[in-house]
Amino acid sequence: ISLHCSVCSHYSNTFDVFCDLSLPIPKKSDIGRTVTLRECLDLFSQEEKLDQENSPMCERCNRRTESTKRLTIQRFPRILVIHLNRFAMSRYSISKSTVPVSFPLNGLDLGPFGPVDCGPVLYDLYAVCNHSGTVNMGHYTAACREEECWCYYNDSWCVQFFEKLQSNQAYVLFYELKSCTITRK
Ligand SMILES: [Zn+2]
Repeated sequence: ISLHCSVCSHYSNTFDVFCDLSLPIPKKSDIGRTVTLRECLDLFSQEEKLDQENSPMCERCNRRTESTKRLTIQRFPRILVIHLNRFAMSRYSISKSTVPVSFPLNGLDLGPFGPVDCGPVLYDLYAVCNHSGTVNMGHYTAACREEECWCYYNDSWCVQFFEKLQSNQAYVLFYELKSCTITRK
């Protein structure tokens, strides 16, 4: 997390260790079509303006100032778990987004979200967890890659399948690092 103070222009960096990325989903009304995983990642990493009240202390001003916050990934995990945050909490209720999110099966590139000059960082999908139903009542199923095909698990039954991996029920995506050209300092 990089913070930029609007008063003295001081930059400070903090590091959070993460095991999974919880991504926001753009609202359907704004889009009216399938959104891509890339759009969720962009929304997640985009610069965010923090007002004085919500800003952390600026190290140099020694007080809370307006600042901007930006998220980048500094170290890429071998296993990447992406949680599509379909459940939005408002003041009075929780709602579930059923926007279809398309995601790549191979070669998801997280390089653009890494450090500057970081090359492509490619991930391949190996499992998907789906959630069907509503906020109050739902059911989980899973799809896992096995050798060259995909198996679909729903309670006690399991079938092989090749399509329909992408749906508006995809909830958690499991990716494995394929290649990493990042140079470590
Ligand atoms: Zn400052």
